Amino acid sequence: SFIDKLKKGLKKTKEAVEFGLLFRGRKVDEELFEELEERLIRADIGVKLTVKIVEELRKEAIRRNIKQAEELKDLLKGMLISYIKDCKGEIKQKDELVVYLFLGVNGSGKTTTIGKLAYRFVKEGKKTLLCAADTFRAAAIEQLEVWAQRSGADIVKKQEGSDPAAVVYEGLQKAVSEGYQRVLIDTAGRLHTKEPLIKELRKIKQTILRFVSEEDVETLLVLDATIGQNSISQAKVFKEAVDISGIILTKLDGTSKGGTVVPICQELKIPIKLLGLGEGLEDLQPFEPEAFVEELLS
Ligand code: GDP
Repeated sequence: SFIDKLKKGLKKTKEAVEFGLLFRGRKVDEELFEELEERLIRADIGVKLTVKIVEELRKEAIRRNIKQAEELKDLLKGMLISYIKDCKGEIKQKDELVVYLFLGVNGSGKTTTIGKLAYRFVKEGKKTLLCAADTFRAAAIEQLEVWAQRSGADIVKKQEGSDPAAVVYEGLQKAVSEGYQRVLIDTAGRLHTKEPLIKELRKIKQTILRFVSEEDVETLLVLDATIGQNSISQAKVFKEAVDISGIILTKLDGTSKGGTVVPICQELKIPIKLLGLGEGLEDLQPFEPEAFVEELLS
């Protein structure tokens, strides 16, 4: 179930911070605040936000005369939820064609995520097409083919080195003429060649808009949770290229930096639409702020 997946996804973070244990049966004192501060930073909530949160908690503890740590935990829970609740988002879904354009640096989990999402669409009975527009590496094309087979989706590809926009053009032509409902486009993510990357992504986006209107395009940025807050500066580069409608945060299960959701949400103000909680086909789950915080602090 969703909660079991979330538990698995936050396991490492929880083992590193043990918020549950921290508050159990303790009195509110300076030592508690200091430990809490250290653990929030360890979860990669960020120094700036951590200081702000702990300051606020100190004030509220005095104002409300809170003596028991468990009560403080409830305050913290409410505070964290308020910081991330506006980032709850769902991916666009309708019966007609929707195009999902995937962005992200190599290794962020883009291809895997496309495979998982395609699997879900196919299971829902949607006619689904993958589009191999990361033409830079032959391995990327091959890997997407593996995911097409695994998920039961179809694929459009050209040989390595082809113009990515040409692959997208071909894919969308096929999608429109054959009545596909979902097209998922893989792109290259070579951040060190920033200007060419930006140009390429804009060209791909323009190509998409020759076939569908803006409202039927979902531009999803895939971010790797294991790099923690470094993902924020990555995101800013992609934001420069095209408008991003949603973030997918992957590999939460592989990191103790699960708290990075909070600064990502605060700084980027882009909806977080899905979480990657493992390598399996079903390990792509919605982002539910309340359940997330509840699990993190339990
Ligand atoms: P791409 O280069 O962005 O397409 O990245 P890949 O999809 O190839 O993923 C890179 C690695 O991360 C692969 O070994 C994936 O199995 C792994 N990966 C992707 N998503 C997740 C996730 O949610 N959890 C874990 N543990 N591994 C993931």
